[in-house]
Amino acid sequence: MIRLENVTKTYRTRRGPVNALDNVSIEVARGEFVVVRGPSGCGKSTLLLMIGGMLRPSSGAVLLDDADVYALSQRERNRLRATRVGFVFQMFHLVPYLTVIENVLLPNARAVGRDRALALLEQLGLADRALHRPGELSAGEKQRAALARALIHRPAIVLADEPTGNLDPENAAGVFGHLADYHKSGGTVVVVTHGGDGDVHADRVICLRAGCIEA
Ligand code: ADP
Repeated sequence: MIRLENVTKTYRTRRGPVNALDNVSIEVARGEFVVVRGPSGCGKSTLLLMIGGMLRPSSGAVLLDDADVYALSQRERNRLRATRVGFVFQMFHLVPYLTVIENVLLPNARAVGRDRALALLEQLGLADRALHRPGELSAGEKQRAALARALIHRPAIVLADEPTGNLDPENAAGVFGHLADYHKSGGTVVVVTHGGDGDVHADRVICLRAGCIEA
């Protein structure tokens, strides 16, 4: 489902090139739950953004369902991302002036009904927070709202960047539990994290260090 072929990413900065990923090849099968682990700065976010069609590699190819993501037009790539992929971030990235349900429906208001959003919020234990704004939520609730936003369009793949980085252990376990439920329902999950959390749910753990996969 996801294939990275000899992917290298070099950021061009005023202070010279920064090598973030060095000739990385990874395959993730449909329905797999993969954790990519490594210390801060090893290239995890870079890897995830590339899989999600948001960052073009300097060389190499990223394939989703055999489509070369960066050979597509911008429009096709946006469509692929909007229909096939859900993102979860460490800092939640909820829109502060919208309610929880508005946040969840934001990219999909026309395609997905309010009932589906409410059912999902119920499933995530947030039914009574649907009309609250993110500022009125705990960190755990914010991340579950972000998870609802990521899952609302029934994506084939969920990409999560340190999804529990700002959560206490109990809420972290809750978020991983919901990711595991999505996985059990047939979803493909890639989580990048510097910690060991999530390993219990993973089919496979890939270790990344200084832009390279560790054997
Ligand atoms: P991680 O997610 O594992 O912390 P990142 O993928 O964010 O790692 O970063 C990998 C390397 O690339 C780091 O050395 C980081 O400083 C550098 N980097 C990340 N984003 C940029 C950017 N936009 N411009 C320049 N360097 C970057």
